[in-house]
Amino acid sequence: MSEVKAKKWFGQNFLKDSSVLEKIIQSMPHNDNIVVEIGPGLGDLTKRLLHKKDVIAFEIDKDLCNILQKKFKKEIEEKKLLLNCGDVLRFWENSLVDKPYDLVANLPYYVATNIILKALRDKNCKNILVMLQKEVAQKFAAKNGDKEFSSLAVLANSTGKVKKLFDVKPSSFEPPPKVTSSVLLIKKSTYLDERGFEDFLKVAFLATRKTLLKNLSKKYDKKELEKIFAQLNLLPNIRPHQATTSIYHRLYEILEKRKVDGEKPEPQSKPTTKE
Ligand code: SAM
Repeated sequence: MSEVKAKKWFGQNFLKDSSVLEKIIQSMPHNDNIVVEIGPGLGDLTKRLLHKKDVIAFEIDKDLCNILQKKFKKEIEEKKLLLNCGDVLRFWENSLVDKPYDLVANLPYYVATNIILKALRDKNCKNILVMLQKEVAQKFAAKNGDKEFSSLAVLANSTGKVKKLFDVKPSSFEPPPKVTSSVLLIKKSTYLDERGFEDFLKVAFLATRKTLLKNLSKKYDKKELEKIFAQLNLLPNIRPHQATTSIYHRLYEILEKRKVDGEKPEPQSKPTTKE
């Protein structure tokens, strides 16, 4: 890599394989949303994104920002590209940008989970198409019953359709990462607006080998839980990865909403995320 030396601490593995870059572009949802790219790096993906859409980019590394400012001088002047130099997390209030956007990025792996969770909570983020470490992508894309099914999968499922699209080998990058990567697509139809639900899932998935009942009894009354499990036709020995996303919403509603409202919830009420 002639232009600049990769900084490991910023998770810099530059994607150089043009067939993979093309596959990411082909996987983009068709709509009028602008694109947000986190970590444009040397701009290989950015260049292709700009052929399709206007882009708002966030790059933490000042050296790369200087390179990008020169490389995309014309696009910046034409306002096709808005380049923000700094840590994306510092820009992220409730929404990262003030209009509907799709996040398309080869993410820095050290902060990928945190970025995806923020994007799931962000009302303006409509779709997420990102490259990240394969194991983490599997956690988001797992189906209930899979051993990888985790709170991350429940949260992603709660916002829309989740799919791991394809794997990418280390040799597609410069320098090559130690792990295989995957491209993940989350087509959002809603957003996460209840931090209480996220906290509830932490308790539910406390120990993945223990039963869901045992995990939940760390916070809730066991007798009460047994009654609710029977009411929902849940076996008392069900493990956290075996329950469905809608069961988690029902349990949360019964256990937490009842506390707030002081009354019994309706048996068929909807999940707690907004449409
Ligand atoms: N998009 C480029 C590509 O595909 O070759 C680079 C991807 S590289 C895996 C991750 C990029 O994210 C790097 O350019 C890195 O400097 C940047 N980055 C790391 N942490 C960041 C943060 N907190 N905010 C914004 N950019 C960040």
